[in-house]
Amino acid sequence: MAVPKRRTSKTARDKRRTHFKLQVPGMTTCDNCGEMKLAHRVCKSCGHYKGKDVAGE
Ligand SMILES: [Zn+2]
Repeated sequence: MAVPKRRTSKTARDKRRTHFKLQVPGMTTCDNCGEMKLAHRVCKSCGHYKGKDVAGE
């Protein structure tokens, strides 16, 4: 098994973590209402998808 030659410095460790995502991936804002929504899913708050109302109610 590979063993690290040196302990990772605090600076190197923290620099690596700057790339950690701050948000759940796959979230976007709705084009219609601006709410956070899952990508490629119908907006939960207004029922729009690709600029159309597809809620069907
Ligand atoms: Zn919406």
